[in-house]
Amino acid sequence: MESAEIARRFLRFFEERGHTVVPSASLVAEDPTLLLVNAGMVPFKPYFLAQQTPPFRRATSAQKVMRTLDIDEVGKTTRHASFFQMLGNFSFGDYFKEQAIPFAWELLTRPESEGGFGFPEDRLWATVYLDDDEAQDIWHRKVGLPLDRIQRRDLADNYWHMGVPGPGGPCSEIYYDRGPEYGREGGPIADENRFLEVWNLVFMQFQLSQVRTKIDFDVAGELPAKNIDTGMGLERMAAILQGVDNIYEIDTTYKILDTAAELTRSRYGRDKRADVSLRVIADHMRAGVMLVGDGVLPSNEGRGYVLRRMLRRAIRNLRLLGAGEERHMHALTAVTIDAMGQQYPELKADAANIHTVIDAEEASFLGTLRTGTAIFDVAVEETRRKGGGTLGGEQAFQLHDTYGFPIDLTLEMAAEQGLQVDEEGFRRLMKEQRDRAKADAAAKKTGNADISVFTTILEKAGKVDFLGYDHTTSEAN
Ligand code: ATP
Ligand code: MG
Ligand code: MG
Ligand code: MG
Repeated sequence: MESAEIARRFLRFFEERGHTVVPSASLVAEDPTLLLVNAGMVPFKPYFLAQQTPPFRRATSAQKVMRTLDIDEVGKTTRHASFFQMLGNFSFGDYFKEQAIPFAWELLTRPESEGGFGFPEDRLWATVYLDDDEAQDIWHRKVGLPLDRIQRRDLADNYWHMGVPGPGGPCSEIYYDRGPEYGREGGPIADENRFLEVWNLVFMQFQLSQVRTKIDFDVAGELPAKNIDTGMGLERMAAILQGVDNIYEIDTTYKILDTAAELTRSRYGRDKRADVSLRVIADHMRAGVMLVGDGVLPSNEGRGYVLRRMLRRAIRNLRLLGAGEERHMHALTAVTIDAMGQQYPELKADAANIHTVIDAEEASFLGTLRTGTAIFDVAVEETRRKGGGTLGGEQAFQLHDTYGFPIDLTLEMAAEQGLQVDEEGFRRLMKEQRDRAKADAAAKKTGNADISVFTTILEKAGKVDFLGYDHTTSEAN
């Protein structure tokens, strides 16, 4: 089943059950506390916070989302993308658990020929919050899920709130057992690779009066009107329904991966490190194209940082695969627009602009690489002349600070020259610089415009997004 069809089926199922289909909002969040939309519920936040009256009691959407917190997982786990799509059904004071759980079960297990996803019942597991007997009862008595496939999890995993006084409550996650070839017995608590989380159902049940941390808050009482917020990962569903090993091999992503392999004359499935690179390229191209499509431009701040980081990490990984200075971004952008265009036809209309932005970023990054490389060569020569085998931390730091050379690039190029790098020294200087910056807020923006994307930008963007995360999404863990 194609990705586009998975989204269609989800929306149709809930539309038939009285939900209004709401188109995806832009990745660029209207919400000032958020950098990018990171959950399907974000556009509905004002309704949940009772700041606005919803024009409907039930809604469903296929929302574009970005999670920068997951970037380091990309390509390494089988299930984390930076850009993905969250399918959701929402109730604003309308139905609650007793209906949300059976809805989910019905859609997952209904035969494909009848508009469902056709999952065999014995593959499905659920988690519920420690004291949520109600949810467990619905799963067991109403739906018929055996008790030994319902696991209880604590606050850290199965409770949701926005990080501010307001609605909160337990959640229930649904997992698909991919079979013993993917890992250990014992359900999701034992192995989240074998037991793949596909859907999270959040039950907004309580009014929280005080929220100190994710797991430390005061409950004022039950909400008079309870809400439902759910999020299903489209790419994870596609991996299962398309019978592939991971989310980078699904229809809309594999074409990009395959093109990257072809362009760099590498082959997927032969070498672990190269495979990670290919998955990162495929993932980051998707994220990059979707961000540009939503009007984001590369820059050194905020969303622009995230985009820049996506594109430069893609370029960097092409290099790791041996692309050198060859320019492949145009071809990769074209295949990405094509792959995502079925679901997002506006990408095709905007293709010329997307190409212009991405091509320019590639040219600028390759330029930075070129300048930095000249400086690097001088540093190597000096090191050799002194008879040393280790490039100084000072030099690595200067390459980073002045020429925007990421440390992993310095490490790789040094290794090619048979040299080591004083990484400890480099990190010490980085830390000193950070401490200085912290002490002097005015010095926050240095002239180091360029490609610190790989280290400092990661921290910056990660931090900004982190706030959004804990505070405003339906992310349970
Ligand atoms: P995980 O525990 O696997 O990191 P999560 O609990 O953080 O997932 P939720 O916040 O509950 O995820 O998001 C709802 C759904 O979105 C998940 O059940 C999953 O199907 C999907 N999802 C979450 N993060 C990602 C990701 N990085 N890439 C692809 N799909 C994701
Ligand atoms: Mg979850
Ligand atoms: Mg989870
Ligand atoms: Mg997560």
